[in-house]
Amino acid sequence: MNAPLPVEVLKQHLIDPEICIRCNTCEETCPVDAITHDSNNYVVDPEICNGCMACVPPCPTGSIDNWRLVVRAEAYSVQDQLGWEELPQEKPLPVDAAAGEEGGQTMPAPQAESGLAQTAAVTVAPPGAAVPPWSAAHPYVNLYTHKTPITATVVGNYRVTGADTESDIHHIVLDFGEQPFPVLEGQSIGILPPGVDAQGRPHHARQYSLASPRDGERAGYNNLSLTVKRVTQDHGGAAAHGVCSNYLCDLAKNDTVQVIGPFGHTFLMPNHPQANLIMICTGTGSAPMRAMTERSRRLIGTADIGKLMLFFGARTERELPYFGPLMKLPRDFIDINLALSREPGQPKRYVQDLIRERAAHVRGLLADRNTCIYVCGLKGMEVGVLDALRDVVVQSGEDWSILHDALRREGRLHFETY
Ligand code: NAP
Repeated sequence: MNAPLPVEVLKQHLIDPEICIRCNTCEETCPVDAITHDSNNYVVDPEICNGCMACVPPCPTGSIDNWRLVVRAEAYSVQDQLGWEELPQEKPLPVDAAAGEEGGQTMPAPQAESGLAQTAAVTVAPPGAAVPPWSAAHPYVNLYTHKTPITATVVGNYRVTGADTESDIHHIVLDFGEQPFPVLEGQSIGILPPGVDAQGRPHHARQYSLASPRDGERAGYNNLSLTVKRVTQDHGGAAAHGVCSNYLCDLAKNDTVQVIGPFGHTFLMPNHPQANLIMICTGTGSAPMRAMTERSRRLIGTADIGKLMLFFGARTERELPYFGPLMKLPRDFIDINLALSREPGQPKRYVQDLIRERAAHVRGLLADRNTCIYVCGLKGMEVGVLDALRDVVVQSGEDWSILHDALRREGRLHFETY
């Protein structure tokens, strides 16, 4: 009698479409380009994924960390996954496949668990840490999902950039009333804009970082704030209507908003009093820096607070969100460095230029293991900022790659860029 052919079992990597906030982090992180997306879903190609797990820690929601045992020949295709509204239940394996699995049939699985890989993994270390600083408080994530959003009420919405400028950036305050919504500085939330997309499906959530500290935009209130730029152009400068940003910027007091989240478990501030913060941001990427600065400000007098150094890039002073309140902060509390790129009569400057100009100070802070670095804003600044930090370190005769590894390992260097 012929023996049955061995059935190959695959531990298939899948993304949960109900939790995914379509932030693109996984697609950017994947070292082998196994992740792709359309207007509906982010999906993993079973033909390419090698289970290297590089995409798992950076995912702010955990939606990436889903696996199904399937017969390899019946793996869910990219096309299958693009059409999903929810993950399928795991199906029982055929008896001979299950037996094969026990008996050690080929089963590509996440490398972190099994060490197996379909193809040799190309390991590209992400620029930032995949762990929070050691003293960060415990974050709550995914308390509210697409299926179970929470309703918040708008209690404030005002412009924080000059009225005569192109940058229409709003500070929006949302109140949760009696409903629990615990957050930490550095976390983000998802907003579900009303209406449907071109395919008639409800819009996906859009992600925004919190601009307020854990105890509320107004201390002791169950509210939080966001920094939202009205999108009127795409990245190429062509006219485009940002669905969620326009919705948010047009909200009136007492309107209600559907919210999901919170998200994020690594881009968190240290919780020990001596910690120093180097904050590097552009435009609306200032949201988490405002949250962390305000958290520290509220601790003045109650604890020894470390040093705060801010590098903040904007086109002009009038397009720099929160310029007025920022300039009122005491200089012995925060060291503010503004990089203006289009200020008439001034040379174009980016945050990375100022990091180099303040090299001695930055180096001093980097030498202290209590220092954490946060970078938030335009994707394009990532490389420039890393180069500037490297230059600062190399100038003092130190090895950047050793320090960079330590900063990542110890959760002291964090990026949130789009
Ligand atoms: P923006 O006004 O377009 O740019 C801010 C400044 O950054 C300008 O001075 C710009 O200079 C400069 N810049 C451009 N390229 C740079 C580079 N390679 N390195 C350093 N600086 C550079 O900023 P924005 O429109 O507010 O965008 C901020 C970004 O933050 C967006 O991509 C947004 O998605 C993201 N973000 C927002 C949030 C939130 O919660 N709202 C959270 C996280 C991230 P020039 O244009 O003059 O060259």
